[in-house]
Amino acid sequence: MFIGSLFTNLKEIGIMELKTAYFSMEIALENDIKTYSGGLGVLAGDTLRSAADLDYPILGVTLLYRNGFIKQVLEDGEQKEEPDKWDIDRLQHLDVYTSIEIFGRTVDITAYQYTIQGENGEVPVILLDTDLDSNEDYDRSLTERLYLGDDEYRLAQEAVLGIGGFRILEELGYRPKHYHMNEGHSCLLTTELFGREDIQEKCIFTTHTPVKAGHDVFDKDTVRKVLTTTSKKLEERGFESLNTTELALEYSGFVNAVSEKHENVSSQMFPDYDFDSVTNGVHSTTWTNPYLREVLDSEIGAWRCQPGMLSRAFKIDDRKLWNAKMEAKKELIDYIREETGEEFEQDVFTIGFARRATGYKRPTLLFKDIERLESLGELQIVYAGKAHPDDTQGKHFIKKINRYADILENVKLVFLEDYDMNVTKKMVSGTDLWLNTPLRGKEASGTSGMKAALNGVPQLSVLDGWWIEGHIEDVTGWSIGENYVEGENQDEIDSASIYQKLEHAQSLYFDDRKKWIEIMKSCIAINGSYFTTDRMFKEYVTKAYR
Ligand SMILES: *Cc1c(COP(=O)(O)O)cnc(C)c1O
Repeated sequence: MFIGSLFTNLKEIGIMELKTAYFSMEIALENDIKTYSGGLGVLAGDTLRSAADLDYPILGVTLLYRNGFIKQVLEDGEQKEEPDKWDIDRLQHLDVYTSIEIFGRTVDITAYQYTIQGENGEVPVILLDTDLDSNEDYDRSLTERLYLGDDEYRLAQEAVLGIGGFRILEELGYRPKHYHMNEGHSCLLTTELFGREDIQEKCIFTTHTPVKAGHDVFDKDTVRKVLTTTSKKLEERGFESLNTTELALEYSGFVNAVSEKHENVSSQMFPDYDFDSVTNGVHSTTWTNPYLREVLDSEIGAWRCQPGMLSRAFKIDDRKLWNAKMEAKKELIDYIREETGEEFEQDVFTIGFARRATGYKRPTLLFKDIERLESLGELQIVYAGKAHPDDTQGKHFIKKINRYADILENVKLVFLEDYDMNVTKKMVSGTDLWLNTPLRGKEASGTSGMKAALNGVPQLSVLDGWWIEGHIEDVTGWSIGENYVEGENQDEIDSASIYQKLEHAQSLYFDDRKKWIEIMKSCIAINGSYFTTDRMFKEYVTKAYR
């Protein structure tokens, strides 16, 4: 079902010979398009931004989410949630329709397009929408909210994404060589390929979470009730209840984890499957501060097209790098003043911590020994992060951190509301040190520390996820609790280590500025040049999209 103008439009941009369709439950396109919640969506967006830079024939498929995930409002230090509305007029409506069967009824689906403009090409992203007059109210709401709702709602969303997304691409005339499932949410697309001999050649699967609860599992009754005819297809193949990760693993010819450590963890969780690893990265131009970008343009050259060139960062003039840093820090300080009324200072050592507020990330570990923390002298700390509305422990962390802000004396602490791409950009470039404290084995990769490195900000982190690959002590940052032996009290050992390393970092910062600037350069040259979605995407092309 072709619409003439659409067809020419697609032809013009040369994507009819599509190699890969990249499916993701969330994709972070821009700060004000609220189709993302956190790390997974940001990674998906960065992946497609790098693909656009490389002019690779790929497209993205996701849902529209008119109400986004949540808008976080802090009331007296406690998280309240509001719908995160945004202006969908920014997208182009495609006159294309398909339908799927869920709950035994027909649900119609249409699509919108957003086009990512890269350095050398463009990548279209198709956003599926069920808010059509022909659908029942409940079905119209299926593309309204991200990660909110019960199991039935979630499984129905996954059917819209996997099955609906597959069919809409057919309607649009795309014949992808590969379907890349970014996490298990889109696994139902495999049911559209059941019976085909080349199903494994066509399917690629990237798993992102080493935490059991992170893998969606739906019981038999839910699967039958929601998926009706599709559930029969699944049952014929031995899937009565549905573990999305297992379904994706079963039918994918290439399967990967997102760091070397995560490959080991995944192989232990799913011993019947062969995992490769492609370590995550970030999109360099998106995450560098404008002041630094200018310095890199003049000192390094065409790094925006070839982020690997950032390895030349050692050549950057000290003064220029430091001045750009001071500008970025000033921008963060201005933002903090506007948002919280707090006055941060330019010459005080500043720590950043921002990520989803949840148990395994141990967001309050830094405050385990308040006296010791205060003994470090003047410090500024910036926090941010949303908790999932059902995560009571996560919400409790946010409240607790805000209480610490009231009682600390030597330490100035703020919690910035509504963590999103813009807040990230300010924090990863304006702070002096990036802190990360996950429980070992729980961080698949982590990417905010990569964004910090790109901006010359060293990381202090537990050796987990990407940091095992990127850490060089006193060169790219510092490890936490490196002598920890399994069975010991992690919190005890890690917090003691944090204070000790903070003391060390502070003394370098104030007493040996030349060495500190050398560390900043190492972060950019060693980690900023490597942990990019440019390198990552090329790995997918050579390992998976062949
Ligand atoms: C980068 C980013 C994340 C992911 O950071 P992690 O270190 O992987 O937890 C989450 N949310 C936003 C808004 C981000 O920019």
